[in-house]
Amino acid sequence: MTHPAPDHPLAPATALIHHSYLPPEGFVAPQPAVHKASTVIFPNVAAMRARDWKDKSGYTYGLHGTPTTFMLEERLCALEGGLQCLLVPSGLAAIGSVSLALLQPGDEVLIPDNAYGPGKELARGELARFGVTHVYFDPLDPQDLTARITPATRLVWLEAPGSVTMEFPDLCAQARICRERGVISALDNTWGAGLAFAPFDLLGDGSLGVDISIHALTKYPSGGGDVLMGSVMTRDASLHMKLKLSHMRLGMGVGANDAEAVLRSLPSIGLRYRAHDAVARRLAVWLQDQPHIAQVLHPALRSSPGHAHWKALCGADQDGLGAAAGLFSVMIDPRYAQQQVDAFCDSLRLFKLGYSWGGPMSLVVPYDLASMRSRPSPHLRAGTLVRFSIGLETFEDLQADLTQAMARAFAAEV
Ligand SMILES: *Cc1c(COP(=O)(O)O)cnc(C)c1O
Repeated sequence: MTHPAPDHPLAPATALIHHSYLPPEGFVAPQPAVHKASTVIFPNVAAMRARDWKDKSGYTYGLHGTPTTFMLEERLCALEGGLQCLLVPSGLAAIGSVSLALLQPGDEVLIPDNAYGPGKELARGELARFGVTHVYFDPLDPQDLTARITPATRLVWLEAPGSVTMEFPDLCAQARICRERGVISALDNTWGAGLAFAPFDLLGDGSLGVDISIHALTKYPSGGGDVLMGSVMTRDASLHMKLKLSHMRLGMGVGANDAEAVLRSLPSIGLRYRAHDAVARRLAVWLQDQPHIAQVLHPALRSSPGHAHWKALCGADQDGLGAAAGLFSVMIDPRYAQQQVDAFCDSLRLFKLGYSWGGPMSLVVPYDLASMRSRPSPHLRAGTLVRFSIGLETFEDLQADLTQAMARAFAAEV
């Protein structure tokens, strides 16, 4: 009942839609069925004893996977270029499960100073409690990463760009350093989403990649602002097995309805990502010229820290425009007091106050930079940090909203 396989390699966007799913005889439909189970039913004791849950040749128990979760894992592998994938209940759970699977007392983990904040909290909390130390490194200085790797270093986290301040690191140099020093590299690839660059093939010739790519599926793969889920992807069978055994022992699993929601959204991820990107970039460029804004932090802007690294890694496609997510931050000019910045955020009508991103609704969060970084950030101008996540509204409507909120909040200069 399946169509013949195409005779040329498919682009990821196409491969996400045309997949090896075999529908029941007589029921061919665009979307796969949804399978739900706590356990599966075995025909006899011998079959039960013979079943090895560690391979994907069959089914054992809901936590070990269903046709629905296996399909989502396969499609995510098609998107990010991985070979094995584990689903977890959130993006943060992906960070936590990698840490718990790979680290033991006496080990050290290296974290970029601009990493996703709750991941740093995990290092300060559970990891410290379990005797795992952590050190922050400068994401813009590969030599700083090299200098901080010691015999105790077991895992290096990478993130491109960094959370909130959006510095784009030399990811190729970082991955190469980890490889040369024999340390496992784990990338938080939520921003890139498998669309801006290929985490397992950074140079495009198969010679360099990260060891692990984690993804908050909560963001672009879900796209709806209504699902929490994460993935842990690898291209190394033994590393995957280590992660999988720990994943099993911790009882990590995801609900079938949530897996279905992500499967429903995946085919449109390429279109949505480009739409978020296009409007975010126009707004970022426009905000650069607004008198209230001291700095716009968006890796596709020439003035943004690490722009050259973004261009080298993500700049090739879309007729040279390159790819970026719908996120950027601004430094509001320091002549405005915190309460004016708060009033600006409160005055926005289309932008809602909220933390996540990747859904249809634009969001805004004011941040306190000083509490987020372990060292000064000389590449950032003085001011008050505000992060925008651009949804799927039009440029003109969002621009008008920003204009009225700036006029209202920044009218009285102090
Ligand atoms: C949102 C996010 C996460 C965590 O995802 P949740 O599903 O909300 O736990 C991890 N990393 C980055 C970069 C994120 O933006």
